Amino acid sequence: MSNNLKNEKMNAKNTKKIAQLNQQILDLNDQIESLKMQIYFHEMENENDMDVKTMELYVSPMRERNLDKFGHASDQCICCGKMMNQTDEKFVHMGVDWLAYNTDETTRIDGFDFITGTDTETQGFHRIGNDCAKKMNGFTFTYKH
Ligand SMILES: [Zn+2]
Repeated sequence: MSNNLKNEKMNAKNTKKIAQLNQQILDLNDQIESLKMQIYFHEMENENDMDVKTMELYVSPMRERNLDKFGHASDQCICCGKMMNQTDEKFVHMGVDWLAYNTDETTRIDGFDFITGTDTETQGFHRIGNDCAKKMNGFTFTYKH
């Protein structure tokens, strides 16, 4: 057998092997993501010391009137619909269950952002005015997003 032919055969073998290994890597990554999810939920069941609490969002009696007046906008208080100043920096962290959470941390698993310590996905942070923030004591965060 000529050296060229030997090399060609070896290259073909190696190419096939590499393709197989790449597929194995993809399969293992899927398994890792799935295990991460299992571990995350398992830890939550066993560790209630994370102490994540929820609270129903305060709904101001002024909300309907303000929404009629201002419509729905991004820069308004989620509780009363009042328009906010850019200097107002208070936020509530809402889950997709429309409850407020007392943690601002999220955990990303398999492309989903969970509120850390819960199995609820986050819907992100909503602005809240100073007056309404008093009704959500312990559930507001102060910073810019
Ligand atoms: Zn408000």
